[in-house]
Amino acid sequence: MIVTLLGTGSPIPAPDRAGPATLVTIDDEHVLVDAGRGVLMRLAACGLGAGNLTALLITHLHSDHITDLNDVITTRWVTSFEPNPLTIVGPPGTAEVVDHLLAALAPDIAYRIAHHADLTEPPPVVVREFGDGQIDLDARFTLTCAPTDHKPVEPSLGFRVDHDGASVVLAGDTVPCDGLDRLCAGATALVHTVIRKDVIENIPLQRMQDTLDYHSSPEQAGDTAARAGVGTLVLTHYVPALTADTVDEWRSRAATHFDGVVELGDDLHRIEIQPVDPTGA
Ligand SMILES: [Zn+2]
Ligand SMILES: [Zn+2]
Repeated sequence: MIVTLLGTGSPIPAPDRAGPATLVTIDDEHVLVDAGRGVLMRLAACGLGAGNLTALLITHLHSDHITDLNDVITTRWVTSFEPNPLTIVGPPGTAEVVDHLLAALAPDIAYRIAHHADLTEPPPVVVREFGDGQIDLDARFTLTCAPTDHKPVEPSLGFRVDHDGASVVLAGDTVPCDGLDRLCAGATALVHTVIRKDVIENIPLQRMQDTLDYHSSPEQAGDTAARAGVGTLVLTHYVPALTADTVDEWRSRAATHFDGVVELGDDLHRIEIQPVDPTGA
C-alpha cells in the first residue's frame, strides 16, 4: 500500500503546495481522498489521470477540500472512452453539493454533448453518503469510515483503508475524538491534517484564531496516533506552510508523546505502508 501526499497545502494559496488531497494506492487501485486545488496536476505527476480513480472519498465539504471536485468529474468524463462512472463517497450533504456542481457545469455539459458524437450523457457520477461503518466498494481493499469532530463543519468523516495486513487512516480535519480513535485502533499508518497552534495563536487576526478550535496540532495528532498504537504518523495540510527550517519543529512536536515514525513532506511525498506481522515477529 502506498500513500502519496498529492497536496499538502491549506486554504491559503501557496506556489508550491496544492490543496488538500491524498492518494492511497493498492496495486492498480487508486483511491483519492479529497480534491483540493491542483489535484489533477499532482495526479498527472504520478502518471495518473481522473479516469484511473477507483473512488473519490470526501472527508468534509469545506471548500478547500473540494475546490477541484468539478475538475475531477469533468476531466474523467471527457477523457474516458468507455462508460466510467465516478464513485464519490462522502458524508451526508455530498450528493447535494455534487448536484449543484453539475448544475453549474450545465452549459459545459451541453456544449460537449452537442460537439462530441460519442458523448451522449452527462458525467456519470455515483454519490454514496455514509456516517459510520463499512463501505462496500467491490474493491480489493476494505473501506471503513467513522465520524470525526470538525464542528461546526458537520458531518465530517475519517476513512480507513485495509488491505493484506496493512492499513491507513485518513483523518481529514478534526480534533481528537472517539470516532477517529475507533478508526485508528491498530492501524499501520495515520494521515492527519495539522495546524501549528503555537504559531497561529500569536497571529493577531480573529479569522486565524477561529481555526484553532477545530483542527489538531501536531502534538494532538501524535497523541491520537499513540493512543491507537499506530506505527507511522503522516502530517499534511500544514498551517503555516512547512518550510525546510521548520521540519524539525513539526517533527518533534508530533513526537511529544508518540514514539513511532513521523513522516512530513512536500507535495508528491510518497510513503510505503508495509503490512504488520500479526504475530509481532
Ligand atoms: Zn476543514
Ligand atoms: Zn482543511
